[in-house]
Amino acid sequence: MSKQIGFVGLGNMGAALARRLQLTQALHVFDLQPAAVARLVALGSRASASLQALGDACDVVLLCLPTSDHVRSALFGAQGLAAGLKPGSLVIDQSTGDPIATRAMAQQLAERGVDLIDAPVSGGAAGADAGTIAIMVGATAEQYARAQPVLGAISPNVFHAGGVGAGQVIKLVNNLVSAAQRMLVFEGVALAAKNGLDPERACQILLAGGARNAFLEKFMLPQVLKGNLSPGFTLELMHKDVRLACELGSNSGVPMFYGNLTRELFQMAIGEMGAQAQVHTAALMFDRLAGTHVVPAADTAR
Ligand code: NAD
Repeated sequence: MSKQIGFVGLGNMGAALARRLQLTQALHVFDLQPAAVARLVALGSRASASLQALGDACDVVLLCLPTSDHVRSALFGAQGLAAGLKPGSLVIDQSTGDPIATRAMAQQLAERGVDLIDAPVSGGAAGADAGTIAIMVGATAEQYARAQPVLGAISPNVFHAGGVGAGQVIKLVNNLVSAAQRMLVFEGVALAAKNGLDPERACQILLAGGARNAFLEKFMLPQVLKGNLSPGFTLELMHKDVRLACELGSNSGVPMFYGNLTRELFQMAIGEMGAQAQVHTAALMFDRLAGTHVVPAADTAR
């Protein structure tokens, strides 16, 4: 009998990962939002009546939920996944979360004969749909060998980072660096604009120089400067990632100068724009603080 695969959490990122996986494998799906489930069912997925029912039907379950607390409650809450999962099944957590919580949940499930590994992602929903997203796996060698064919069907860019929790560690490092880079680009381009340069020309020049970086190339020029402030990732989720990186630094004795500064900048952006606003809207805060118009005034996302 072929493996039955389930996917829980069909938001901005989870739906994109599930859409990709579904190209090669029919899925059982569950989300608290019926509309999110309906969109996947329209593509050929089967809706599960509950988390427990999905656990019962599947050998492999992927999760993409906002935080580790959401993962814990989906696993161990009333009628949760753990109540349905059979010994020998594999849970692949693609949420970005706390590596310490991930290891604790893996240990708790191991007592039931169920494996849990972490496989958070980077590259945005567009990267997931394009099949290019980076997947960072924390697992034993044996668990990795089991998960690889499933994750490889989402993207060829699957990296074994180390033991359980290591995927979360490197994902937090990734978002620490990319979040700080984002804020630094907003500050730098505001400086250029305030001193007479056209923002687009400034970015083109930076891309040819030592300041070149992925945010500038993939988001600042093609999205923010065109007034598209909706990449499908909220300020709340990015703040969570930087906060978790800072906590990890604090718990492991690593100074987090840029991390703490970046976290506070995201907190300020949340205060101005709201937790559910998109990450790109932080550019509007820099425009306000600097008195610039880097984001085109005609933008509809303001
Ligand atoms: P989202 O808020 O768009 O979606 C979360 C989904 O989880 C929602 O549909 C919600 O209904 C569902 N959900 C919550 N609790 C549930 C439960 N108990 N059972 C079933 N469904 C439940 O979030 P997102 O943007 O998809 O992010 C998910 C995770 O992926 C986060 O950890 C985020 O940091 C990470 N991530 C997101 C992006 C991105 O570009 N959006 C990129 C990389 C990583």
